[in-house]
Amino acid sequence: MHRHRTIGWRIAIPHVALIVVVTWGLSLVFGQTLRRATVDQTKADLMLQARVVRHVLADPLAAGDAAGLAKRAAEYAEVLGARITVIAPDGQVLAETDQDPAEMRNHLYRPEIQQASVAGEGAAVRPSDTLGVEMVYAAVSVVEHGRDLGFVRVAMRGRDLSAQLGVLRRALVLLALGASAFAVTLAIVIAEVTARPIRRLSLFVRRLAAGDLEQRMLSSSDDEVGQLTRDTMEMAGRLHETITSLNAQTARLAGVLNSMADAVLMTDQQGSVTLINPAAQTLLHTTEDDALGRSFTQVVRQHELAAVWREASDVSGPCVELVDSGDRFLQITVSALDDVEPGTRLAVLQDLTHVRRLEGMRREFVSNISHELRTPLASMRAIVDTLAAGALDDPPAAARFVQRMDAEIDALSQMVEELLELSRIESGRVPIRQERIDLVPVLRAATERLLPQAERGRLTVTMHLPPKLPLVLGDGPRLQQVVTNLLHNAIKFTPESGAIDIEARAMGDRVMVMVSDSGIGIRPELHDRIFERFFKADPSRSTPGTGLGLAIVKHIVLAHGGSVWVDSELGHGSRFSFTLLQAPSDGLSVEAGAAAE
Ligand code: ADP
Repeated sequence: MHRHRTIGWRIAIPHVALIVVVTWGLSLVFGQTLRRATVDQTKADLMLQARVVRHVLADPLAAGDAAGLAKRAAEYAEVLGARITVIAPDGQVLAETDQDPAEMRNHLYRPEIQQASVAGEGAAVRPSDTLGVEMVYAAVSVVEHGRDLGFVRVAMRGRDLSAQLGVLRRALVLLALGASAFAVTLAIVIAEVTARPIRRLSLFVRRLAAGDLEQRMLSSSDDEVGQLTRDTMEMAGRLHETITSLNAQTARLAGVLNSMADAVLMTDQQGSVTLINPAAQTLLHTTEDDALGRSFTQVVRQHELAAVWREASDVSGPCVELVDSGDRFLQITVSALDDVEPGTRLAVLQDLTHVRRLEGMRREFVSNISHELRTPLASMRAIVDTLAAGALDDPPAAARFVQRMDAEIDALSQMVEELLELSRIESGRVPIRQERIDLVPVLRAATERLLPQAERGRLTVTMHLPPKLPLVLGDGPRLQQVVTNLLHNAIKFTPESGAIDIEARAMGDRVMVMVSDSGIGIRPELHDRIFERFFKADPSRSTPGTGLGLAIVKHIVLAHGGSVWVDSELGHGSRFSFTLLQAPSDGLSVEAGAAAE
């Protein structure tokens, strides 16, 4: 900012100029008036003196006494400090105090003499012809007894007048200088006092513009600047409120976007991505820095999605489509947000892969269950057909058939039982009790139940238990079912003379139970799949069993807050392990509405 453009200077400069012009103008006018007054006064003084001198010189003049005249004139000139000239009616100089009268020219046509000859008295200010300097003259005519004797003139040197006027002028100049200096100081002070609050306000507004919305400024003055300051403060306050509430809204929106499970992308008119939420970054394997500013097509890297997005530019309503890219199944919804800004598009991507997998599992489940039902039903139909075809007449054969039918019905009802149990646990409708229980009796009971079966296969079953096993939180009968299912499998998949080991031990805040066998083992790629419903590793599905046992094991263990897994090597045996939470030592039982999954 140029210094002379500031408000202070704008106020000071015209003020100073005005005051200086007025002061100098006034002193000029005043000086002139004073000069005129002084000259008039001098003229009047000289006129009085001339009248006195006329009185004194009348006698020698009338007598024509030249010497007396000159002497008297010289005396009075001395006393009055003036120049005295005596002039005859014809203009000849009769006596003169400063010059030799003989050398002086005729004075009849001097203006003061002319005036005096007409009006009796005359005065003039003019340069002297004789002396060449400015002089003030006063002349009176001398008339005695009607006889015109001539004129007496008293003059004062202009030098004396100028000296008087000079003193005056100096006083005036000093006055004008003093007044100007005072005016300049005053103007600067006023300008500063006026400009200071404006400068403060301007600094305040500049800081406001730079984003400092919390600064405060106090103004106690009631003038326009004070009012402006208060208005600006109020505006800053409102601005602050608005920005704070906008920030809060933005934070809320960002919170919603960030925590959304759906992927959200926004694009501008040019098709560049302007917003991408964390879910979208994860889904599209990108980062915000990489995605922002790039085209939608480049960011999604899937032409099916890009096609839906392009299509949405032409239709008015939201455009919803399902896109299957092989490994993923996505639903894309593209809406036009033209009221936000023309050309803005919002794309929401939902990963429905897991929904599709669940659907697939459901289909597989239905097909599995139909398959599992078909075998026993087919053999029952065959038995009934055989009986109807005449086997009823052969009682021993009929009894055999009925026995087989009984076995099939047992298998069927066991399967239905297991299915029901599984669905009950999965749905979480049956709460798993969380009681403090000792696992040792549970393990023993399961083993004792299956011991006859193990002995039939000449299998040795050994228990390895620590002297003191911590109590666990759980549901006794259900845990017994877990161990029974694992042991049952171990017996089923272990050839004759094999060994089965049951081991339990404390591990941190958990208790781990392991059931190992020296049986046929499981291929590594199936280690997860064997826990699925109806899954059987044997492709011919010829081994007895429904494929539900391990699914039940998994769900019961998960409902207890534990985990279950298998370690196995094909041909060398398998080891199934599961963990349970230890019961807290304070002796209180914990009731938990445990839910599977
Ligand atoms: P199943 O009623 O067929 O035993 P499970 O769910 O108990 O059903 O087991 C699923 C599959 O896991 C079995 O068909 C079998 O192939 C495999 N399996 C389970 N336990 C063992 C084991 N101890 N040794 C080898 N394979 C096993």
